[in-house]
Amino acid sequence: MKRDLISIIVPCYNEQEVLPLFYEEASKWVAQLDADVEFVLVDDGSKDNTIHIMRELAEKDSRVFYYSFSRNFGKEAGIYAGLYHAKGDYCVIMDADLQDPPSLLPAMYDAVKNEGYDSVATCRETRKGEPPIRSFFARKFYKIINKVSEADIKDGARDYRMMCRRMVDAIVGMGEYNRFSKGIFGWVGFKTKWLPYENVERAAGTTKWSFWKLFKYSLDGIVNFSSAPLHISSWIGIVFCVMSFIMTLFVFVRQMIAPDPTIGWSSLACLITFIGGIQLFCIGVLGQYIARLYQESKGRPKFIVRETNRDDRKEEDRA
Ligand code: UDP
Ligand code: MG
Repeated sequence: MKRDLISIIVPCYNEQEVLPLFYEEASKWVAQLDADVEFVLVDDGSKDNTIHIMRELAEKDSRVFYYSFSRNFGKEAGIYAGLYHAKGDYCVIMDADLQDPPSLLPAMYDAVKNEGYDSVATCRETRKGEPPIRSFFARKFYKIINKVSEADIKDGARDYRMMCRRMVDAIVGMGEYNRFSKGIFGWVGFKTKWLPYENVERAAGTTKWSFWKLFKYSLDGIVNFSSAPLHISSWIGIVFCVMSFIMTLFVFVRQMIAPDPTIGWSSLACLITFIGGIQLFCIGVLGQYIARLYQESKGRPKFIVRETNRDDRKEEDRA
């Protein structure tokens, strides 16, 4: 029987310190698998020596393939490029920093191979080692997004997961430009097993996510997978219409009973600014969706490869 090929997809952005460690550690665990393996390393426009390390690894090991982007396109683009170019019967996405322990690989492969699952995903049991404020907002985000969106996203879910070919094809087939993988994984469905594990700290280097970047990422998640903000702004509009009707009635009756042309100008000024603010806010929400519509309609490529050691581009391909 033909041996399975497992593609290990690693998005890397300025990972010169950890990439060699990752390769060592992953190779050790991969050797225990009863399958062939290819490494699909994606250099997301790194400014350090990541690309040199990738070239060296590829020279040493014929199982290593790398794709280097022309600039930084973000982790989501890295994941997409990896899945797009992977040839494996199974694909697994891993961070370069060893926060996704390769020791889970044998258990993951066993689950997709023998237990009838289409994918094995991992989630962190605890958020140990993370700033408390970040954990607080992360928790709130998962609560909100699960309420308002059709994608089922588990709190603490990582991007570290192994998927069968059918699921990978489904994900690559979702050609949207604004990608939020955690949502996409949930949206495509399939039978998924969850493996919880203790949070591991980064082996070396520094995190690429600032608080602001994470905040924007979470907004992306909500806007991409839910139209709840649009409904909420419509409801705010309705509530204000009703309120203004009641207030008009009140003012009218009061003028009838005790006419005074000057009273109430300050409350009027407050109301005007308040309602103006709400209107701008709702237009802003609308704008978020229109901006995405605009981005999607341009149909720009999600990533541009500058250098690779496996040029398997077909003419009609446009990722
Ligand atoms: N990453 C990437 N492009 C980016 C930012 C991050 O490819 O613009 C990669 C990074 O190299 C790492 C993974 O995404 O392999 C996770 O990043 P990081 O460890 O900084 O995030 P954290 O674990 O702190 O959430
Ligand atoms: Mg990390």
